[in-house]
Amino acid sequence: MAKLEPALWWEVRRAQNSKAATYRCPFCGYHLHATTEHMLISPEGDSSRRRHAHRECVLAARKQDRLPLREEWIATQPRPPSLLRRLLRRGETGRDGAA
Ligand SMILES: [Zn+2]
Repeated sequence: MAKLEPALWWEVRRAQNSKAATYRCPFCGYHLHATTEHMLISPEGDSSRRRHAHRECVLAARKQDRLPLREEWIATQPRPPSLLRRLLRRGETGRDGAA
């Protein structure tokens, strides 16, 4: 059965492949031919783990929120405190400890 590895976000782009190869779509488990229009998806942008997938399967997964893009994932993350705030906070704890 088709299996998609867990990843925080995915890089999704159109595949351009003229090589006569057959891949297995990680969404539906069916084969796809490299010469047909399809998509490349890379977990966290790691192209060494990229998978070839049907365009329709990728679009369906995107609709179901199963394939967040990097900027979508970043938007869900809490904002890290600014460097200045971190430095100020460290100064405060230092004072508390010294007392
Ligand atoms: Zn598919």
